[in-house]
Amino acid sequence: MAGASAVPVPSSHLDAARDADPATRAANAALAAKLPFSDTRDFEAARRGLIAPVPEGMVKSGSGTVLWNLSEWDFINGELAPATVNPSLWRMARLNLANGLFKVAERVYQLRGFDISNLTVLEGDTGLILIDPLTTAEAARAALALYRAHRPDKPVVAVIYTHSHSDHFGGVRGVIDEADVKAGKVSVIAPAGFMEAVSGENVLAGLPMMRRALFQFGNLLPRGPRGQVDAGLGKGIARGVSGLIAPTRTIDQAVEEHTIDGVKIVFQLAPETEAPAEMHMFYPDFRVLNMAENACPLLHNFIPLRGAVARDPRIWAKYIADAIEMYGPHADVMIGQHHWPTWGREAIVDYLEAQRDLYKHIHDQTLRLMNKGWRPAEIAEAIDLPPGLAERWSVRGYYGTVSHNVKAVYQRYLSWYDGNPCNLHPLPPAPAAKKFVEYMGGAAAVIARARADFAKGEFRWVAQVMKEVVYADPSNKEARELCADALEQMGYQAESATWRNAFLYGAQELRHGVFQLPRRIAMSGDTMAGLSSDILFDAMAIRLNPAKAAGQSMVINWHFTDRAEKLAMTLNHCTLTHRLGAWAADAACSITTTRAALDAVILGKLEVPTAVASGEIKFEGDPSRLAALFMMLDQPGGLMFDILTPGEGR
Ligand SMILES: [Zn+2]
Repeated sequence: MAGASAVPVPSSHLDAARDADPATRAANAALAAKLPFSDTRDFEAARRGLIAPVPEGMVKSGSGTVLWNLSEWDFINGELAPATVNPSLWRMARLNLANGLFKVAERVYQLRGFDISNLTVLEGDTGLILIDPLTTAEAARAALALYRAHRPDKPVVAVIYTHSHSDHFGGVRGVIDEADVKAGKVSVIAPAGFMEAVSGENVLAGLPMMRRALFQFGNLLPRGPRGQVDAGLGKGIARGVSGLIAPTRTIDQAVEEHTIDGVKIVFQLAPETEAPAEMHMFYPDFRVLNMAENACPLLHNFIPLRGAVARDPRIWAKYIADAIEMYGPHADVMIGQHHWPTWGREAIVDYLEAQRDLYKHIHDQTLRLMNKGWRPAEIAEAIDLPPGLAERWSVRGYYGTVSHNVKAVYQRYLSWYDGNPCNLHPLPPAPAAKKFVEYMGGAAAVIARARADFAKGEFRWVAQVMKEVVYADPSNKEARELCADALEQMGYQAESATWRNAFLYGAQELRHGVFQLPRRIAMSGDTMAGLSSDILFDAMAIRLNPAKAAGQSMVINWHFTDRAEKLAMTLNHCTLTHRLGAWAADAACSITTTRAALDAVILGKLEVPTAVASGEIKFEGDPSRLAALFMMLDQPGGLMFDILTPGEGR
């Protein structure tokens, strides 16, 4: 998913970062001794087929602003990890620096290192089929330009989105023109449920997801051995303009075969896996299998740190098993929409079997212990990758971790509640913290003991207990510093890029406060236009402030002529509901307009009086009722809400 747009990285913040403590050095050295660093096949695979690197290592906007700059990671230049970086993560951070235009097979090319994800190009008989046009138009445009600099200049005839995450569709306007889509010259293909998934996951809870994604990806961390080194799936997320062009064709059957511009494509739907709407593809003429994002060379997330509905690792493993069965015997190359390919039939099957077992193992072992009554944190502590998997680079937790994936499995089946009624109605974090600190003899006493534990390398506990002191009194600078120091050592030890980013960014906010990003509209016009009216009206409903709505009720009819849609919206019991297709006889007000006009009003591009004067919005009944309703809605809040400290009024 996309992160924040162009923001200055406060590099002075690195000055406060401490070096690795002895316990961190020991932990990182112990891991380095266990892992098979002599196996360098991934480095060969990541370089294989390179035609040309990303020009200057950069992507720039039309006006010359640098939006993506691989030289920010120039410090990643040797085999030996600094003491402040987990050695296994360092290896992945080096691999993810491979970039440019790569030939994968005859008529199959990939652009890597322009963004977190890959753009795949299939050469059709007359034009190009593009798979996953990156996060931003600028990144996708630059990637396609590099391809065209080295290959025959052919028009784009189709774009395929493998799944509903924005790093796989957001740059579409950089590579095709919507007018060509409308004219039928370019088709846009996506898995069933794509548009619903784009709005479902990222709209209603979009704001907190964006805030939390800053922790996951480390967007606001300086790059460096004490800062961001990688994002697991790639180096980071490209900045620039994201958009969306809705699919003209969806893949609805479990397996569908189509010939697009002379290229045979077998689509295998894999819903509810890494994304709610996702699909794999097999290109039989090229003998290439594309696993989208379901078999990256790492352990992926069952719930990412940004937050999402829990994914289903049982089904995920099943779809990988189906792909092995259907395409394994026929594939010479396996690609994904992140990272590098795997070549060779036996290697592909071996790789996919490990992926299948990775997801199934964590699912099954979590349930085994759940069925013995174990609690989430206990299961997370007990389970690790089994022998045979643990020493494989391709299943290690650079993005997801066994620990937080175990908790996602628990949540999926048994919810947030561990069943202990003492945890059913506890005090909220801030008042509980005050009590804890008071019972423990006050902040100074807790800090003194935590310092002794810090010296012993007990960073997890120090962060845990300092969180209470900070929540009891966010102005306690000593507690904040000690908490930051502990998080930082945990970041230096983390094999997962997302854990490292979260720990280090948490330390940064404790030390320097919350860096206020400029307020901006969270949703693009494309995303808004892509929303069903059902989701759009629920997006309005979740802003209703009950204190302002108390005692009021009304019904308002809406007619959107551009979509031939009617709906009746009801306010009652401080709750907004709507019924699609309904038209209430007793409505206080009926509005005839277009969804385009309503979207423009919400985006602040159209004033209601102007629209009424021009006839774009027509009212019947009492328009003051609608104005009154809008007054009951909260304004969208700021992105940078408090996380490391309790926040106002809580
Ligand atoms: Zn992705």
